[in-house]
Amino acid sequence: MYIGLDDTDSTRGMCTTYLAALIIEELQERGMGLVEYPRLVRLNPNIPWKTRGNGALSMRIGRIVDNEDKKRKIGDRYHLYGAGEECSSGEVFDLVRAAVERYSYFDDEKTNPGFVVSERKPPRAFYERCAREIVDLEDALKVLDSAGASYMGYKDRRGLIGATAAIAYEPAFCTYELIAYRKDENIGERRVIDRDSVIEMDRRFPETFDNYDYENDHVCIAPNSPCPVLFGVRGMSPELSGVLEVLRTEEAERWMIYQTNQGTDEHLERKSIGDMREHTSGIIEGLIKTRPRTTEGGHVIFELMDGDGAMACAAYEPTKQFREVVLKLLPGDRVELYGGMNRYDTFNMEKMRVRDTVRILKNPVCCGVSMKSMGRGKGFRCEKCGRRTKEDRKELERGLKPGFYEVPSCARRHLSMPLKVMGMQGSCFEG
Ligand SMILES: [Zn+2]
Repeated sequence: MYIGLDDTDSTRGMCTTYLAALIIEELQERGMGLVEYPRLVRLNPNIPWKTRGNGALSMRIGRIVDNEDKKRKIGDRYHLYGAGEECSSGEVFDLVRAAVERYSYFDDEKTNPGFVVSERKPPRAFYERCAREIVDLEDALKVLDSAGASYMGYKDRRGLIGATAAIAYEPAFCTYELIAYRKDENIGERRVIDRDSVIEMDRRFPETFDNYDYENDHVCIAPNSPCPVLFGVRGMSPELSGVLEVLRTEEAERWMIYQTNQGTDEHLERKSIGDMREHTSGIIEGLIKTRPRTTEGGHVIFELMDGDGAMACAAYEPTKQFREVVLKLLPGDRVELYGGMNRYDTFNMEKMRVRDTVRILKNPVCCGVSMKSMGRGKGFRCEKCGRRTKEDRKELERGLKPGFYEVPSCARRHLSMPLKVMGMQGSCFEG
């Protein structure tokens, strides 16, 4: 049986993963449990009405029979069971409903909770759409009804879309996250996480990623919101519990390991500029049309063109050092941009692959200005002081090599694949 949950949190508190953890604990007390890792499923990052990270949750559960040998620890009080028997959908529905109604932030205007209980799994294609574009509530309801699911949506019921997508999710390439939660009395207070222990953990666990931003000297495993999450450590494998022995933090209330689509680039597909719509993502190949420049707010903007049209692109201020690379681009450079359209019809870059840079030949300089050519092979002359030279044109040192460039860890979107993960996955550097 599948349970899907979405949009129970608010910028002021709660977290849908924590609600899932509470529900799983209660299921275990009633003789039910997880038969797969709980799944934290990130959806379209370009949706303007999302609360925080646009993450939905799903769990596959069963009634636990005696199978101690297959039992596996995935949290301080959580287990994964090899198999489970059928459980009563009525009992599960009531349990989830009570938890959602007790813990969701109904008074936040942006919080529109929804949950689903289903024996059948909706098609993965529905999840893919929800990761990449904007999906109507009616479409989610159709999918739910044809799966014969029980569900409940609150307020504008948008949470049902994510809840449905979460149970429709089936991992292809996936990652894991160990999330530790805070004790009630600490929520809202500054998180106590020892920076040096995060760096040590980052070095001792090479299959984890986005732990620490070395360029900006920033701990990335902790959120900034007043939510119950103490920290989350992301990795390529579910073997993450060792990090708890290295990290020095305030005492956690509980922890659990989730399977997730974070860091997979599953929101991206190759498109042309003409196919890019507002609130969608894509990988666009094209030529730089206008030279990047910095705006008053510190954003770096330019235009990209392909055979199909042109679009405005941006490396926003929070992308820090990434902007310096973008500023080296010149008209004519061929690039592949990874990102999405979130606001003002501007493409928000998550990473970039420089394919080819234009060669620029510069005349010799004298008196601070370019010298004038006196004709082919006849050398150059300074218009200010009259000096002549037989020197050749010199190629401009671009300082920009072909290859991938990415935003720093702290500016990364949940779904965006870090170059470290690309390298470990070994798929994306050729061609
Ligand atoms: Zn001169």
